[in-house]
Amino acid sequence: MVNHRNSSLLWIECLVATHKSILRKFAASENLQLVHIEILQYLSFCNKYSDTTQSLSEYLGQTKGSISQSLKFLEETKLINRTQDSTDKRVFHLALTSNGQTIVKKLSELINIKIPEKTNVELRNLLEVLQKKTNHRAFGICKNCKYNKNLTKSGSTCGLTEEALSPAESEKICREYTS
Ligand code: SF4
Repeated sequence: MVNHRNSSLLWIECLVATHKSILRKFAASENLQLVHIEILQYLSFCNKYSDTTQSLSEYLGQTKGSISQSLKFLEETKLINRTQDSTDKRVFHLALTSNGQTIVKKLSELINIKIPEKTNVELRNLLEVLQKKTNHRAFGICKNCKYNKNLTKSGSTCGLTEEALSPAESEKICREYTS
């Protein structure tokens, strides 16, 4: 028999499966593969500390080798670009081009639904419990990170780097997120 806790996990399974199925169908309509759309979507909501191949491969749970093939394709089709870090020359930052942004905007319009704040909090708690239990890397939304400080309407500060974060950056996900 399915108990209450397990039925919550089943709802998550169904939610994730539905989301993936929608993305796959959307990808096909754009002559892309699911992984291409997942990469474009990730680059639209990751912050400046997480826009690298390494972070992307951790987030998607794929090897850097297989991600690199997809990144090559997306660069060739001019949906993303790569910029060398100004201080650490070994690091390259990935970003959407305007064509990439157009595709993500189309997808956002397709899957945009109103979610009450109460549900957001419950989903966040559930994610944190699952990540802790499985020792999974804790990507999360910056404004809820324990290092995010001085959060106001005009932005916040990252307590790890002491850099200023714009309001838009505070809404993005970060690989260094800590609950
Ligand atoms: S406050 Fe946390 S989530 Fe935000 S940039 Fe700093 S480490 Fe990342």
